[in-house]
Amino acid sequence: MAQPTELEYDVVVVGGGNAAMCAALSTREKGARVLLIEKAPADARGGNCPYTGGGFRFTHNGAEDLKPLLADPSVLDGREEEVSPYAAQDYRKDMLERTGGLTDPDLLDTLITESYPTVLWMAREGIEFELGGSARDSGGRNLGGRIGVTAAGSGPGLINMHYAAARRHGVDVVYETKMLKLLQDSHGAVKGALIRDKEGVQELHAGGVVLACGGFEANQEMRLKYLGGQWERAKVRGSKYNTGDGHRAALAIGAKTAGQWTGYHGTPIDLDAPDTGSPDSVDRLPRRSYPYGIMLNLRGQRFVDEGEDFALNNFVEMGSKILKQPRGIAFQVFDSKVEALLEPRYGSASVVTAQSIEELAQRLELNPPVVEKTVREFNSSIQEGVFDSSKLDGKSTKGVTPPKSNWAQPIDTPPFSAYRVTGGITYTFGGLKINTRAQVLDTEDNVIPGLYAAGEIVGGFFYFDSLRASGLMHGAVFGRIAGANADGTA
Ligand SMILES: Cc1cc2nc3c(=O)[nH]c(=O)nc-3n(C[C@H](O)[C@H](O)[C@H](O)COP(=O)(O)OP(=O)(O)OC[C@H]3O[C@@H](n4cnc5c(N)ncnc54)[C@H](O)[C@@H]3O)c2cc1C
Repeated sequence: MAQPTELEYDVVVVGGGNAAMCAALSTREKGARVLLIEKAPADARGGNCPYTGGGFRFTHNGAEDLKPLLADPSVLDGREEEVSPYAAQDYRKDMLERTGGLTDPDLLDTLITESYPTVLWMAREGIEFELGGSARDSGGRNLGGRIGVTAAGSGPGLINMHYAAARRHGVDVVYETKMLKLLQDSHGAVKGALIRDKEGVQELHAGGVVLACGGFEANQEMRLKYLGGQWERAKVRGSKYNTGDGHRAALAIGAKTAGQWTGYHGTPIDLDAPDTGSPDSVDRLPRRSYPYGIMLNLRGQRFVDEGEDFALNNFVEMGSKILKQPRGIAFQVFDSKVEALLEPRYGSASVVTAQSIEELAQRLELNPPVVEKTVREFNSSIQEGVFDSSKLDGKSTKGVTPPKSNWAQPIDTPPFSAYRVTGGITYTFGGLKINTRAQVLDTEDNVIPGLYAAGEIVGGFFYFDSLRASGLMHGAVFGRIAGANADGTA
């Protein structure tokens, strides 16, 4: 191992995404010296952050709260009455509904209480915001609301603004520098990290370390170990650099786990998606129109209730169900009746079309008689009712396994189309246990001195599902807290 070098910082931040940037900026705000180490090269910096829409979910009381965040507040002039506030109790309810009530109550309290002050602080630090997705609605009923603002230029814009702010505020940033291990003094306090960069392996000494190095979704071995066998071969939707290094380094010194380590966000995704993500194509690749057709596996058989619920409510688990099929593959089959209902992004997929089910099966290299039997049995099981894609219409099957509970229509009107899909993983839920000061706890619930964590590496926010635009928000809230505390003077 190399000898300690003169590289001395008050705080080292591990990671280069939204949580890390908030931590580094917050440390600098206190006047402390901070080094941010990013494993990725500069052109792939920012982890999963550039893959997001850049939306932030925070509490607010309406237009007057949104205006100080906006690069152009005049967009709200004369429309103040249209802005619906987002109250703390609604935020709490929305989160707990998604997570089965399991979100850590202390972390949730802090997230909610600090959400608005944190976006306000980010705006002051130089992050420009625009009205959020729902806020741009010109219908007038949902201006503001749950996702009040998004970063200008969405996820890529957010990460560029973060790095520009870091440069302005004097954060030292190094790329292609990987944290390997945490260094401890004889009392167990974390005093730096062992890193590897182009020069080799060396020790980096600091008063405190903030781990903000994301989840373990891009680590095949950890997916297999924690998420289950089917996730071994999942496509990674985001950054290939999020490989659970921080999880492993912290567990190696006795950190406590928190949250749902078997939990993840995933989706059915195009089979031709790259093995790891690219911000340019990530939005085109999900395949979530399955409620309007049927899904077949390689054996030519249905394996799931495609119409159990709206895709928005079950696409996460649908990715997993597809991965459990032979070779982790499925075929979404539609007829021309529902073509107009497919999400526009299906337009970019390589589709297989045919005038008959037999021909379709041949082109998909499935067994035609089996597929014809599957479709025949499905078609003859469909019950009376009116198809209505706008609601759970109850138009279902009877006597076929698995059933289809809604939107069941016969696959009988050519041309038929099929899309090859598999499961894609977005990010993982399991992480480290922290307290509301963002300090990492050990397995006996004691603080590990000098060690802080923020962002996706923290466990306890999401279970079963996540809440849109709250990943970036909790990363920012706890990144800011971690950065303010990590020099040990708070
Ligand atoms: C397709 C997609 C869409 C998403 N949409 C949304 C959304 O709309 N809203 C939302 O809130 N969230 C969304 N998310 C989740 C969001 O990306 C995360 O909540 C957020 O980026 C987590 O921030 P983070 O800073 O913790 O991790 P990241 O932004 O992923 O950053 C982790 C960083 O750590 C670095 N790193 C990893 N290991 C090391 C190491 N050993 N040494 C040094 N550096 C290391 C990585 O290179 C990276 O820079 C989405 C994710 C994806 C993939």
